[in-house]
Amino acid sequence: MLADTTKSHPGTPAELEILSKSDRIVAYCLLRHGPASQAALGTVTGLSRPTVAAALTRLAGRGLAEMISGQDDSPPAAGRRAHRYRLTARAGHAVGVDIGRRHITVVIMDAGHRHVVRLDSKISGDAGADPRQALRQAADQVHMALGQAGDVSRVLGIAFGLPVPLTRDGLVAGGTLLPAWAKVDPREELAALMPGFAVQVGNEAGLGALGEYVFGWGEGKRDLTYVKLGTGIGGGMVLGGRLQRGSSGLAMEIGHVTVDYQGRRCPCGNRGCLERYAGGRELLASARRDGLDIEDIPSLVTRARSGDPACRRIIHEAASLTGIVIGTLVNLTGPGLIVLGGSLSAAGELLTGPLRIALDQTAFAAAASSVSIKVGRLSQWASACGAAALVFQHFTAPGG
Ligand SMILES: [Zn+2]
Repeated sequence: MLADTTKSHPGTPAELEILSKSDRIVAYCLLRHGPASQAALGTVTGLSRPTVAAALTRLAGRGLAEMISGQDDSPPAAGRRAHRYRLTARAGHAVGVDIGRRHITVVIMDAGHRHVVRLDSKISGDAGADPRQALRQAADQVHMALGQAGDVSRVLGIAFGLPVPLTRDGLVAGGTLLPAWAKVDPREELAALMPGFAVQVGNEAGLGALGEYVFGWGEGKRDLTYVKLGTGIGGGMVLGGRLQRGSSGLAMEIGHVTVDYQGRRCPCGNRGCLERYAGGRELLASARRDGLDIEDIPSLVTRARSGDPACRRIIHEAASLTGIVIGTLVNLTGPGLIVLGGSLSAAGELLTGPLRIALDQTAFAAAASSVSIKVGRLSQWASACGAAALVFQHFTAPGG
């Protein structure tokens, strides 16, 4: 089945391309948004209800769409549960990959937004220091996942989340952050490692925002802001279903917001960035100064949750400082929902409590009261799921 995949034109959803215009509009809407009712499809596409109904009947007749049974495990919509429809695996699959500093996560989803395979593995070494090794290992993991998936005859695309800031052209920005990455063109390298596949790249934290929007807390929401707190601090903002990257591609680099303009030097070239005080490396250094031997953030979180006062204080201080920056973000953008991800988010209330207090102290009261703060639903899968969503979003309906 893999051999067939590599023969097809990269990323062309052949089964959908041959459809009539209205059928294709409905199919692409399902591809982007996942399962939806006839009424929702009509609202989003602007097509009349009879046109949507006829399109769904024809798509079902081709084996490309199906009605979801009452046993489906997706949460019920508000009020009366309407029949919902989704694409079938025949319409294709998306592969989403998250390359972190120490891990590689792969998800394969079918066009109906169902998980087919999930893989999570550790990176041998540090992806920050040896990007080519990390990219090779990621490509190997994708091949392994495709092998496990079995009949994945139509791969619509593969998107990779990378642990570096990227320009809109997919080039590594800010070469001083991870100098080794500045010497590679990740999309070109990945395209060479994955011949025959349509390859996209994005910043992993930005893709985490898209993942939580499409598959996590974002259902029915207009916007979602995501803040990833782990070894580094990053973020992403989704407005109206679209990940906002700004003119530079570097929007929401929240870890490099200045909290002390005369403060610690940051590898980005500036001083006093949030990440230099609340990033994972700083938290572990702080623990060492307290005489604690803690090797990673999950261990810090576990000890804090079991009551260790020093670990609780370290997380409290990081949460307060992050809350001040998020308070500023709330004043600037007026979000309705902020989702916290990354390994530190496992601290739950130990993180959200002091963060909320600092946010309330710094943001305009009316803006602060209208934003909810949640710990992400997708945990370590957020960025890989967002990468899969990026593949689905890549295809737009005729005239769309
Ligand atoms: Zn910085």
